[in-house]
Amino acid sequence: MTDQTIIIVEDEDKIAQILVDYLEKDGFKTRVLNDGSDAVAVIKAGNPAFVILDLMLPGKDGLSICREVRQFSSVPILMLTARVDEIDRLLGLEMGADDYVCKPFLPREVVARVRTILRRVNQPPVSGTRDIVEYRGISLFPDRFLCQVGDEELDLTPVEFRMLQTLLSHPGRVYSRESLMRSSYHDDRVVSDRTIDSHIKNLRKKLSRAMGDEEVIHSTYGVGYKIE
Ligand code: CA
Repeated sequence: MTDQTIIIVEDEDKIAQILVDYLEKDGFKTRVLNDGSDAVAVIKAGNPAFVILDLMLPGKDGLSICREVRQFSSVPILMLTARVDEIDRLLGLEMGADDYVCKPFLPREVVARVRTILRRVNQPPVSGTRDIVEYRGISLFPDRFLCQVGDEELDLTPVEFRMLQTLLSHPGRVYSRESLMRSSYHDDRVVSDRTIDSHIKNLRKKLSRAMGDEEVIHSTYGVGYKIE
């Protein structure tokens, strides 16, 4: 089990300190890394509840850190980026971050996002969705937050997991981006269609890699996505 420690990887001392102040005031424990080079190892060893990750870092950039962490963990990751247009670029990459915040940010907004993501991740599944789902070799174990293709365990982010769970609840049925958003984010947050597309793209890639290039998630132009 994880404790409530948040690892902050941020090389600008001032920004790191503001985050520490606000998060600790809100009851979290924090640990700051000013350099990217040890971040992956520290996250692996520390098993934190949450990671706040700056994009531009000495030693190793946030992008690589995020990718490497996703090899072994689905810990929520909030990325900090310096420019709003960078977010577009990041969304196009297979990164697996749960959310993005642009600098300069309001510290209390970051705390609110952390809380929202943690609530979403820790929320027990609604009744009726706890059952194991099996479809075309894909198995979902909602109670254990586990997805397998055959014997292979897929490392899905919380959002990807919920999207797959929704699609698998009615194979063949087309889900709009809006309904995928509603079922995947357990708050009233509105994210862009592009964000949904980006999560679907990552999910597809992980599935097809495990399924020998077979595509099971299909898009219906102008409508949304289905699994079949
Ligand atoms: Ca930086």
